[in-house]
Amino acid sequence: MEPIRMVDLIGQYNKIKEEVKAEIVKVLDSATFINGPAVQDFQQSLEKYLGVKHVIPCANGTDALQCIMMAYDFPKEAEILVPSFTYVATVEVIALLGFKPVFVEVYPDTFNINIEDLESKITDKSVAIVPVHLYGQCADMERLMNVANEHEIKVFEDTAQAIGAEYTFQNGIVSKAGTIGDAGATSFFPSKNLGAYGDGGAIMTNDDELASKLRMIVNHGQSKRYYHVSIGVNSRLDSLQAAILNVKLKYLDEYNAARYSVAQKYSETFSQTNWITPPFESDFSTHVYHQYTMKLADGIDRDALVNHLASFDIPSMIYYPVPNHLQKAYSYYEYREGDFPVTEDLCSRVISLPIHTEMSLDQQEYIIQKVLEYQN
Ligand SMILES: *Cc1c(COP(=O)(O)O)cnc(C)c1O
Repeated sequence: MEPIRMVDLIGQYNKIKEEVKAEIVKVLDSATFINGPAVQDFQQSLEKYLGVKHVIPCANGTDALQCIMMAYDFPKEAEILVPSFTYVATVEVIALLGFKPVFVEVYPDTFNINIEDLESKITDKSVAIVPVHLYGQCADMERLMNVANEHEIKVFEDTAQAIGAEYTFQNGIVSKAGTIGDAGATSFFPSKNLGAYGDGGAIMTNDDELASKLRMIVNHGQSKRYYHVSIGVNSRLDSLQAAILNVKLKYLDEYNAARYSVAQKYSETFSQTNWITPPFESDFSTHVYHQYTMKLADGIDRDALVNHLASFDIPSMIYYPVPNHLQKAYSYYEYREGDFPVTEDLCSRVISLPIHTEMSLDQQEYIIQKVLEYQN
């Protein structure tokens, strides 16, 4: 049996090696390293895949979020609503731009932003909501969009973990994650469902005016060369990464399906136990299982389980051990323990198991066996 990894990038690469190498060589031979045709090609393929008018490639998912927030003239101290239970990048950019992150609770089953709590936190300073489609499943976007429209605030989806996931509205319309709000941000970090071989990110929007602003912002705020109309950043997806991503995009649905079947196999078994709650799947969203994150019952020693698995060379991870409202970096906003009981509880009981596109049946059966052994 091959060693078990959280993500198997080597096995995945081996299957598409020749195709990827050929595309890399094309970029090298043409020396079109920055903004070459590969970037344009990938942008168009992703627009088509997502069914969105504009994709603006950039250097990483964090920049994607930041650039979106720079595209509006939000006043200083404007409030941006964000779940505390997310990767730090979502919160970081809000604080970095001088806005105030206003944390929101999540639902204990989906781990996504709680719409009732969201609504109760909206003030006249609120300018935007950043729902995070955590672990690969969409937040409750229909209800969220209704709240946002009612209060006339923007919606920026953090879909770094959910590229390819689909949300179904009550009228039957299906939209890809990231294309529902005013703008979406995603990441091509190597371990993401659509991963580059380095850093990468993209913004998506159906808003023409916003798209042209964003194209300037990612390029030093310039309208044409050496004419700068706004403060921008230098955030590019390089041509090599674009060429690689363009190959991998063709396989994204296949990759997501492979992750899904791994998840189903875990869930079938773990739902039979009285100490593991497998991930919950909402009716309104597909799940692309960026992570397989389950909850442990009261009294189960999570650290001991991690150590037990590690002793059999099975890696596991805690996404995330500390909620953002209790991180030292954000203590300035004066949140306290107890402010978000569901989030805090989840941080103490979630655990993520290896899931990737290359998992063999042997590997998965071994992981399942060792997990079950822990309580037997
Ligand atoms: C990975 C990730 C990001 C940041 O993406 P980078 O490309 O690493 O900057 C932002 N939000 C979430 C939820 C993520 O998982």
